[in-house]
Amino acid sequence: MGKPTGFMEFQRINEAYLPVADRLKNYGEFVQTLTDEQAKTQGARCMDCGIPFCNNGCPINNIIPDWNDLVYRGQWQEALTVLHSTNNFPEFTGRICPAPCEAACTLNIDQAAVGIKSIEHAIIDKAWENGWVVPQPAVTKTGKKVAVVGGGPAGLAAAQQLARAGHAVTVFEKNSRVGGLLRYGIPDFKFEKSHIDRRMDQMRAEGVEFRTGVWVGKEMPGKGTANDATTSVSPDELLKSFDAVILTGGSETPRDLPVPGRELSGVHFALEFLIPQNKEVAGDGRNPIHADGKHVVVIGGGDTGSDCVGTSNRHGAAAVTQFEVMPRPPELENGPLTWPYWPLKLRTSSSHDEGCARDWSVTTKEFIGENGKLTGLKAARVEWKDGKLSEIAGSEFIVKADLVFLAMGFTNPVAKMLEAFGVDKDARGNAKANTDGAGCYQTNVPKVFAAGDVRRGQSLVVWAIREGRQAARAVDEFLMGSSVLPR
Ligand SMILES: Cc1cc2nc3c(=O)[nH]c(=O)nc-3n(C[C@H](O)[C@H](O)[C@H](O)COP(=O)(O)OP(=O)(O)OC[C@H]3O[C@@H](n4cnc5c(N)ncnc54)[C@H](O)[C@@H]3O)c2cc1C
Ligand code: SF4
Repeated sequence: MGKPTGFMEFQRINEAYLPVADRLKNYGEFVQTLTDEQAKTQGARCMDCGIPFCNNGCPINNIIPDWNDLVYRGQWQEALTVLHSTNNFPEFTGRICPAPCEAACTLNIDQAAVGIKSIEHAIIDKAWENGWVVPQPAVTKTGKKVAVVGGGPAGLAAAQQLARAGHAVTVFEKNSRVGGLLRYGIPDFKFEKSHIDRRMDQMRAEGVEFRTGVWVGKEMPGKGTANDATTSVSPDELLKSFDAVILTGGSETPRDLPVPGRELSGVHFALEFLIPQNKEVAGDGRNPIHADGKHVVVIGGGDTGSDCVGTSNRHGAAAVTQFEVMPRPPELENGPLTWPYWPLKLRTSSSHDEGCARDWSVTTKEFIGENGKLTGLKAARVEWKDGKLSEIAGSEFIVKADLVFLAMGFTNPVAKMLEAFGVDKDARGNAKANTDGAGCYQTNVPKVFAAGDVRRGQSLVVWAIREGRQAARAVDEFLMGSSVLPR
């Protein structure tokens, strides 16, 4: 523990943001990393609790009190070593993790958690600036070959761990660039894509091969928003050529809203807007959907919806409204009741601050249009009664809309991929595999493992990294009989 009285002497500070007017002009990141001095005093606030709830709150069990202390003492390289011991990609989580660790921090009982995520961000950015992040190729090769199907954070974490354990790893990705939803879902203003490219260089130097534009499955679907594949590899070919296969294909089936008027031009799934936008920013073509001068309605109150809000405002939308069917949560959580768990409370993202009317307890009944083109939507207010959602009589209203983005989550992985391998699904349609005990992360098909959103359903980057790391250990044990990879 750096400074026993630090939590009493120093206030929590948050990372600064560039002003709204500046950040709306482009798609660049606008969060300002803490200065060394700020990171030091923030690290000094950690109380090094006997039971570090933060460490359990973090899905990858980052050893937070240790790196807080090391940053306080100015031992940045040691802090990096501790951080990397549990997290392959802290520059991913230091930017876009919702930080359940901070919800679990003891100081959060008073609403002033240690700024854990901002310290993580500061450590890894400093490390890249100083050239401390270098390839760690395995000293001995095992001669075993592993295929990873899907280049999102789960696949990348698994691939890096397995390459470091000496296996020859090939990542197959249907899109033309690697990164999964980090690359094509999350906009650049939250997460610039150079962070992925830099890690790919490191992983190539560690022996990972990336094969992009390759669909893994039996029948290759046509090219589309979420598929750039030009060639395919069948499951049989993969199983013949590799000693193990890990499926990390994500959960790509969006939840639809099949109300009258759904077919109107102007009603889109969120990723039909966000994927081409990320491609446009990368110089890979123009987004066919532009929100400039338009009235935009986003349906769904989570991260995906928020990313549609931020992107629409950068396009120059005339107005952006976001509807959520659930009631408006309280401004502050009931700390003594919810701590150290993730609390229900109002979450206002940087995109909301850039301009968005938000409304809760609203259901959409119909999309309205003229000549096949969306002009508005009919909504109504709802309330929860006896655990059931019911419409409030006479509460209907009409909203002008030129564009609607459906951002209501994802239901399950694309079934075709799992079926092509003959992988059993759970009740929600995800790949069925346990995460504990013997045979963890293994599916019913010999040699085939599953991790990340494809197994757990749509989740978070930090969970994808956890599952990728744990699946890598399971594969290493399967191939070698034992493993020294961390759990
Ligand atoms: C818009 C949006 C914003 C989000 N914001 C956040 C956030 O701020 N913070 C956060 O923590 N999480 C966020 N998430 C969730 C997070 O991105 C995902 O939980 C995470 O990326 C899942 O990682 P994954 O590796 O399991 O799957 P994915 O990232 O989905 O990657 C799966 C990869 O597999 C590839 N693939 C699929 N099938 C095949 C096939 N048959 N052949 C070859 N390749 C295939 C896909 O093309 C994709 O690249 C967001 C999600 C969305 C949609
Ligand atoms: S990965 Fe997320 S939960 Fe873990 S320490 Fe970082 S911000 Fe906190």
